[in-house]
Amino acid sequence: MDIYGGQVGKLIEELSSLPGIGGKTAQRLAFHIINMPEDRVNNLSSAIVNAKTNIKYCKTCYTITDREECPICSSQKRDHKLIMVVESPRDLAAYERCGQYQGVYHVLHGVMNPALGMGPNDIKLKELILRLEADDVEEIIIATNSSVEGEATAMYISKLVKPSGIKTTRIASGVPVGGDLECIDEVTLLRALEGRIDL
Ligand code: ZN
Repeated sequence: MDIYGGQVGKLIEELSSLPGIGGKTAQRLAFHIINMPEDRVNNLSSAIVNAKTNIKYCKTCYTITDREECPICSSQKRDHKLIMVVESPRDLAAYERCGQYQGVYHVLHGVMNPALGMGPNDIKLKELILRLEADDVEEIIIATNSSVEGEATAMYISKLVKPSGIKTTRIASGVPVGGDLECIDEVTLLRALEGRIDL
């Protein structure tokens, strides 16, 4: 039985469909939202709608941004000859939080995963190769996660890039096996970057 009536029930249902939000948390959040001042509720809902409407992929590195080209790609202070290949915008954010990496990025939006039907054409790999052909790149650092799929994708990319003569490196272990880059502390991430190995 829907004890709150349709509107509140709908809000709880929508919130509980979000990752990591169980039924109890959804209920707590729903009541929190209902008790918030109306202008704050409006701010929250328009932030959600605006993020969805205005966010697109950077035309160069494919991270999410609300501009044609993200602030990193359009910065003159970054080393555009050094490209770090990451799985997701969240991984990019983790490296940016370190604040030590001066190059630019390429976001794959996933890794190859045959079990999930994800092949080379399902990630932004073709876009990376086109970019390497068009730009003057000296090194790519492959920073996919150390999962089986992340390693396999790294090997695939390195084989693909090899004929071009561009130096290809892999972030060093130190990132635990199966480790999610997003959750690894900055020092570990930095060591992994400094200790990268040639592929
Ligand atoms: Zn970019």
